[in-house]
Amino acid sequence: MNCDGFDVNALTPMLRQYYELKEQAGDAVLFFRMGDFYELFGRDAETVAPILQLVLTSRERGDKNKIAFCGVPHHSAKNYYLKLLKKGFKIAIADQVSDPAESKGLVERKIVARYSPGCVDELDALELDVPNYILAVHQKPSQSQWSVLLADISTAELRLGELSNLDEVVELVKKHQPKEVWTRQFFFAPLQSSLKDYMGHQSLLFSALSESMLRDEAGQKSVLQSVFSSELKQISKIGGGRELLAAVLTQLAHLGFSTTRFLGVQALQPSGTMELSENVVRDLEVFETQMRRERRGSLSSVIDQTMSAMGSRMLRQQLIAPLLNLEEIELRHEFVSAVAGMGKTTLLDLRQMLQGLPDVRRLLTRVMTGKVSAEELWQLGWACQKIARFVRQLSTFEELKDHSYLVQMQTLSDCFEKIGRLIDQALGLDQQVDRERQSVFRIGFDKKLDDIVFQLTSGQDLIDGYVENERQKTGIGSLKARKHKTFGMLLDVTKTHAKKVPDYFIRRQTMVNGERFSTQELDRLCVQWDSAQQLCAERQTELFQDLVTQISREYESASAAAAHFGLIDMLVSFGWLSLNEKWVRPKLSRSGNLNLKLSRHPVVEKFIGKHNFTPNDISLKADCKNMLITGPNMAGKSTVMRQVALTALLSQIGCFVPASQAELPVFDNIFTRVGASDNLIGGQSTFMVEMSEAAHILRTATSKSLVVLDEIGRGTSTQDGLAIASAIFAALVETVGSYTMFATHYHELVAFTSKFPNVQIFQTLVTEKNQQIHFSHRLIPGASGNSYGIEVAKLAGIPELVIEEAKKYLHVTHDFANAIHATDFESIEILEDPSEMRPLEQSFDFGLTTSEGLQPRLRDVAERLELIKIHKTTPLQALMILNDLKNLLGTDVQQSEFNFHPGPHA
Ligand code: ATP
Repeated sequence: MNCDGFDVNALTPMLRQYYELKEQAGDAVLFFRMGDFYELFGRDAETVAPILQLVLTSRERGDKNKIAFCGVPHHSAKNYYLKLLKKGFKIAIADQVSDPAESKGLVERKIVARYSPGCVDELDALELDVPNYILAVHQKPSQSQWSVLLADISTAELRLGELSNLDEVVELVKKHQPKEVWTRQFFFAPLQSSLKDYMGHQSLLFSALSESMLRDEAGQKSVLQSVFSSELKQISKIGGGRELLAAVLTQLAHLGFSTTRFLGVQALQPSGTMELSENVVRDLEVFETQMRRERRGSLSSVIDQTMSAMGSRMLRQQLIAPLLNLEEIELRHEFVSAVAGMGKTTLLDLRQMLQGLPDVRRLLTRVMTGKVSAEELWQLGWACQKIARFVRQLSTFEELKDHSYLVQMQTLSDCFEKIGRLIDQALGLDQQVDRERQSVFRIGFDKKLDDIVFQLTSGQDLIDGYVENERQKTGIGSLKARKHKTFGMLLDVTKTHAKKVPDYFIRRQTMVNGERFSTQELDRLCVQWDSAQQLCAERQTELFQDLVTQISREYESASAAAAHFGLIDMLVSFGWLSLNEKWVRPKLSRSGNLNLKLSRHPVVEKFIGKHNFTPNDISLKADCKNMLITGPNMAGKSTVMRQVALTALLSQIGCFVPASQAELPVFDNIFTRVGASDNLIGGQSTFMVEMSEAAHILRTATSKSLVVLDEIGRGTSTQDGLAIASAIFAALVETVGSYTMFATHYHELVAFTSKFPNVQIFQTLVTEKNQQIHFSHRLIPGASGNSYGIEVAKLAGIPELVIEEAKKYLHVTHDFANAIHATDFESIEILEDPSEMRPLEQSFDFGLTTSEGLQPRLRDVAERLELIKIHKTTPLQALMILNDLKNLLGTDVQQSEFNFHPGPHA
């Protein structure tokens, strides 16, 4: 037994009991009940005291054994352990299970509850707008795929699916950000190593799945039979799915989380939805900003105007899995259009009906698992009534009343009416739960309980009357009755009145300032009162359980209603958003045209203000889907491309879009490669990450996908970068045929892409006046001729001397660029078959022929130039040749010719 290094024999019996329970708790922090406190000892105490801001003291054991300890009052312990859970700790609660008054020796204690960040259904421990996932993964020895299960015990969501490899598992973790990963112990190392970069900034607990259940086919079937008999066949189709699901359910049950909450298993990827990759969610800053990883500045921070946790979670789910079906998207747009048609004032009133709405879905789970408190039931009833009223009100609007979403909501909300009524009849929803009241049930709900409460109240009155009588009789003016753990109730007499104590007072306790007494009559009244109290508790438990059972019967329909209400809330919030932000309903193009008039970036516009944002018109026609965007730094290239991607995303979740007019196709996927990032811990450099993402896009995108590439190829040398950028762009235009927006600083690409008839070349306009540059952020046709990189560097505060020096170097690089521009790209043949792109060595004969009179290196250059067959040379090869020739000249020649010296400040 690990006793934090203490000798077990030197410990008191109580501490020995503590360490025995700590052994059972494993890596969880153990809250050990001692009277009115939960105590934490040893390493646990040292770890959590600074986090919980508790005073750390120590218990002396012998001369040297000092055991650190700290404690929290039992009634507020929940606040403390919820705080630890949020910080990623596991918790075990050990309670006293025998009555201390009746225990001989040590009170018996047991671990009564275990929590971990993914295994918690207390509402206070959960974030409202985010699912609280456990991700379980399993790879059967015989197969290469992984079965994966996302489980949220607070909402009873289970999603099961199959992934092809470990990379996809890693991507899933990044996308869904589970709190815990459950897998076989020996998968910890490979998974943790693949997730190193992620775990550097996100806490993720690992727990082992039970090996025995993963191997026990009969056991698995019996577990699943009892929970999901009808879905067993479907589950078994997923390799390793049955094993995984059964192991997770068993583990949850073992941890004290009832599996009755689960109603079924859904597919990992909801059917009919887009499989957005984690990169896109990251690049488009859907949930957090790329640089600071903050919610502020993300798309969801701007568009989440939902009024409930259900709506907010629904929005989150939609943002990672937008719809693919045109009719379904249009159905949503229709709903939003009708909502927006109500006008701001009406909508404001309507939304206020949902102000402060509790999390119905999670409360329902607590009902089903028998964990719900009276206060939570009260909240549930209140919320159900509010939603039912809201739906009724919504149905009074002519434009909405026949919409299939609302019709469905009306039917579903019948169970909300019922639950609201049941709770109202029992608890009284017109008054808040009064913790001081003898009964949580409303008067008149149960005659038997009312009688008991009457006895209880009159019992209290009898005690009060008796004490008053004794006060008069004895002349002890300060005589008071106080509750006592062992004696029920005692009379307090201060020292001043000691002489007035009559002989029928029985001395029970001596205090510093007085003494405490019982009397036969007080004892009799107390016994009566105690028994009434016990009866009252028993009757309330009976009635409460009965009420919970009745509500549980509605669990299935109420869960469906809560989910559908999330959708309604989200769509109403879209209506509100479009009214406030002046967004428009997009027309879904069947012919595949994208036309945006005065399009805006939803987040940038919000942050810099409507008047400071320059809207742009963007058009990608079905027969001319590609756009090359050139333009200086800071001119708005990334912004305009991202806004197109965000507009497409918004349209496909059913939202209106930030533009004055919008026509959009339904994209089958959105791909982005924006901004520089590396994965150093994962062993990938910036360029490697960029290329892997580009490779994924080239492999996966189709002619119906939207591809946004920002400055691809800039992570390597100019020549290589330009070569790669040209080839990727060509592949997207010619082979993939996607809708492509491609921003670049390589002006050379303009000449290259002008070959393609279906590429539009645009630039973001910058004007220069009195040596000052002005970013208009306007997207106009044509190519930009300048990067203004030095001007932007100056604006960013690079010292003047460095700027001056940079300007000198600029001449040198211009010469180089001009040499490239001078190449007649128009006359260069573009190879139809990429296999014709042979390595240079194969294309040219580099054998030396002598040309007398020239310096040896210049002679080499001349000879090679002679050998080049320009009509057979691709632009990429031309650049590589140029580079080669430059290298041939050698450093000293280049420097003296170009006068390229670093200068005094370099
Ligand atoms: P770089 O080439 O340096 O990456 P860029 O051309 O991609 O620059 P962006 O990053 O898109 O430029 O934009 C730079 C800044 O300009 C943005 O952070 C934003 O504040 C502002 N901006 C971009 N577009 C607009 C616009 N249409 N209206 C107003 N401000 C804009």
